[in-house]
Amino acid sequence: MPTTQQNQPIRVAILGAGGLGKGMAEFIPHRPDFQLVAIADRSGFAFNAAGLDVQQISQLTQVIEYPGAVASDEAILELLQAEGENIDAIFKALPNIPVGFCAQTIEAIVEKTSFRGVIVDALKRTRAVEQLLPLSGQLKEKGILYITGAGATPGFLTTAAAVAAQSFIEVLSVNIYFGVGISNWEAYKATIREDLLHLEGFNAEKVAKMTDAEIQAELDARDGLLELTQMEHADDVILELAGICSRDRVTVGGLVDTRNAKKPVSTTVTVTGRTLGGAVGSHQFVVSDETTMVDNVCGPALGFMLRGVELYRQGKYGVITSADIMPRYQIQVRQSAASNPLTQKIPTLV
Ligand code: NAD
Repeated sequence: MPTTQQNQPIRVAILGAGGLGKGMAEFIPHRPDFQLVAIADRSGFAFNAAGLDVQQISQLTQVIEYPGAVASDEAILELLQAEGENIDAIFKALPNIPVGFCAQTIEAIVEKTSFRGVIVDALKRTRAVEQLLPLSGQLKEKGILYITGAGATPGFLTTAAAVAAQSFIEVLSVNIYFGVGISNWEAYKATIREDLLHLEGFNAEKVAKMTDAEIQAELDARDGLLELTQMEHADDVILELAGICSRDRVTVGGLVDTRNAKKPVSTTVTVTGRTLGGAVGSHQFVVSDETTMVDNVCGPALGFMLRGVELYRQGKYGVITSADIMPRYQIQVRQSAASNPLTQKIPTLV
């Protein structure tokens, strides 16, 4: 039974060994509570109860190159079938095109493997999070606590907004604008593909069919820059479920430079609200330009995971969002939205 041993390291598996998966492998040794024991990608999986060698993982093109790795077309399921009882917590760094891939993967994990413990994701899209919410009952029965939207945005930035909102008696808007700089898009293929689908003339089906060469050509035509507005980002549903404000008050956009590690613009979170005295004001939080996408996804994801492990030890299972473990604004709103998360709009806060 995982995660009940208070003095043992939390044994972590990473699903996906791309930019974020490998970034997470490098982050874990800096957090004393965790030990990386498994990693899986499209090529196979590696497991070592004594811990994986993080230096070697950061050099891999595919997991199958890791000494002793097992080749598999169903690496996630095979890993969790073979070693599910020896893993306490999972970080999911998988692509999510089509949008239902995450929910399907979780259903398969519940039905076909012995894993019980904490799962944390870095999902981006609203519909991806909405598809997970109805799985809460199955996850509860299985004994899994799933924290969704626990990367940077949604995640770090959303929960910063949830705390900032508490100063106001009415939240008028939440605006998240991210700057991301990466020197090579191929190190973060899924991230860039999922950003691209928000551009005019693109959608998930079209992006899924594009070859890497076509993506490269599209990036070249834009000088490597992706300017993103009105994104379908789950910060909206997560803030709505946390009772902070209705989803139509949340906007997410950003500027991504796919040729330069330097951020093209600083990342900001701006929460505007009405004060007790009747004034309208904004809190603005600026993320350090020195921090990378990996810093802002993987560090917070580990923080949410650790909180998840604490809750798990107290018997909490099912699906929660990152904002569910932050200060609350209006509990009743969350209950009405949660009763039918796919269809019900919550009332505007007044
Ligand atoms: P990537 O393309 O670099 O890597 C994806 C990895 O998943 C690869 O190792 C691939 O082999 C593996 N994979 C794909 N299908 C698989 C399968 N069926 N079984 C096992 N492994 C499989 O991706 P990335 O750029 O690291 O992004 C990962 C995810 O993180 C994306 O969904 C992206 O949108 C998300 N992301 C979230 C945030 C956030 O703040 N919430 C920020 C950036 C990225």
